[in-house]
Amino acid sequence: MSWEDCVRRVVPYVAGEQPKNQNVVKLNTNENPYPPAPGVARAIREFDYNTLRKYPDPDVSALVSALARRHGLDSSQVFVGVGSDDVLAMSFLTFFTSGKPVLFPDITYSFYDVWAELYRIPYARQPLDEDFCIRKEDYLKENGGIVIANPNAPTGVMADRAVLEEIIRANPDSVVIIDEAYVDFGARSCVPLIETYGNLLVVQTFSKSRSLAGMRIGYAMGSRELIRYLNDVKFSFNSYTMGAVAIAAGVASVEDEAYFQETTERVSATRERTKKALAGLGFVFPDTKTNFIFAAHRTVPAKEIFEVLRANEIYVRHWDKPRISNYLRISIGTDEEMDRTLKVLEAYLQKKACGMRPPHDDGQRG
Ligand SMILES: *Cc1c(COP(=O)(O)O)cnc(C)c1O
Repeated sequence: MSWEDCVRRVVPYVAGEQPKNQNVVKLNTNENPYPPAPGVARAIREFDYNTLRKYPDPDVSALVSALARRHGLDSSQVFVGVGSDDVLAMSFLTFFTSGKPVLFPDITYSFYDVWAELYRIPYARQPLDEDFCIRKEDYLKENGGIVIANPNAPTGVMADRAVLEEIIRANPDSVVIIDEAYVDFGARSCVPLIETYGNLLVVQTFSKSRSLAGMRIGYAMGSRELIRYLNDVKFSFNSYTMGAVAIAAGVASVEDEAYFQETTERVSATRERTKKALAGLGFVFPDTKTNFIFAAHRTVPAKEIFEVLRANEIYVRHWDKPRISNYLRISIGTDEEMDRTLKVLEAYLQKKACGMRPPHDDGQRG
């Protein structure tokens, strides 16, 4: 037997492309088009590099207490990690050990099945209905845990909080993770349910609404027991997940609530305007309160539009997967970026409409 027979083989998650070309309008990874809060720049500039010779605070107390204050929780109810991907992976490892299948939607964040495979956790995908909504009954059967992104990715669909609460209440013997990566752009959070349900873990990130994807900060909120178990696993894995610079930047971001409100509202306003324009161009999409729109065109295939945009240095995301292959996920950029995108779409769709007229039709006859 060779060492290769004993390798833990996995099919990795495929992240959205990060082009080197600076001219690209990048609407493919749901990044925030605005810079992080000004206090973040200050915190990094004034960071004393001498302190880097020491290990960072393993408890990440400064960031944990800033987040606890922000959400009206106790510090013992907050866990931080290197992006919410790290927090979610750690949560899978900590809570999904029963051997029963973990449940999540068939169309959702495509990292969930990757972590399940990595940790050999059985899972069962639950089909969304034709409007991409979760069906409550699917989550009322026996399971080893539940993960629901709300709003969901890549569809942007938000579940009713009463439905989520029923699922959480009906599953007191499993941990229910609500992944709120996009909640800050106008959706309703499940954080207020934490006090009532000891099995609820709510995960959020600094990558989208706080413009800090490059810094890698994510966090989980839940009962003291859940957070204690998460920390036990973390300290058995790597005591120092968060670098000192990231901690300082994270605290500065949380401290500037006004900037956070201003930029998330600006993204939401651009989204609303973009929805109207896309609808006018013949696109259909589920309603969304995220920083992206999951849109299909009534007549032109998604793959074709994807290529046209790409040829114009506009990157969006397309998945060649069942049920969603005719959709594009378009992140919300600045107003200027969305205008450039809409102009390219309009020009192409118009040209195509003309090309589809019968050859001798000059538009005058009839
Ligand atoms: C972006 C995203 C994450 C991961 O974000 P991090 O950058 O790792 O914090 C997690 N879940 C969903 C649904 C996401 O879209």
